[in-house]
Amino acid sequence: MISRRGVLHCLCGLGLGALARGALASTSFSSIPMQQHEMAMRAAITMALQNPVYPFGAVITDASNGKVLARGVNAAIDNPTLHGEIACINNYVSQHGNKNWSNCILYTTGEPCPMCMSALIWANIGGIVYGSSMDIIQKSGIEAFALSAKDINQASNFSQTVLLGGVLEAECNALFANRK
Ligand SMILES: [Zn+2]
Repeated sequence: MISRRGVLHCLCGLGLGALARGALASTSFSSIPMQQHEMAMRAAITMALQNPVYPFGAVITDASNGKVLARGVNAAIDNPTLHGEIACINNYVSQHGNKNWSNCILYTTGEPCPMCMSALIWANIGGIVYGSSMDIIQKSGIEAFALSAKDINQASNFSQTVLLGGVLEAECNALFANRK
């Protein structure tokens, strides 16, 4: 089930001129079946289970068919920049090169932090789907910035991506509630 928060909120308040050069058109994003989003989020949850302390898992998919192109899990114990999303970006580039970003969607168990959100906007990714909100992440005791993914998206003067939150929210929230 998608929560009340599960709404597209990137293009609100933006004129057509501000449409992202990388983002999928909101119509093509909206036409993706929820089942495709949920299958990808399940793959992200599977990745998150590899880190029971910081259960941030991510996958990047081909938006046209939902095929998983790269996976990542938080490895900040090895490198402070290796949040799940950055690990996934790095794996994507190693496997597919630095291209085709606008046809990709990143799925992550938790709302992206400012570092990851900025990196995804720099990549011109086609869309971002997350499970748990920043509020849930903070309540689980994880350090966080008081800047939402939406804030970062709207603060960019060059590109906005499409954001969808609350996909498999209950399952993702359980990851954070039960973290070690
Ligand atoms: Zn991050």
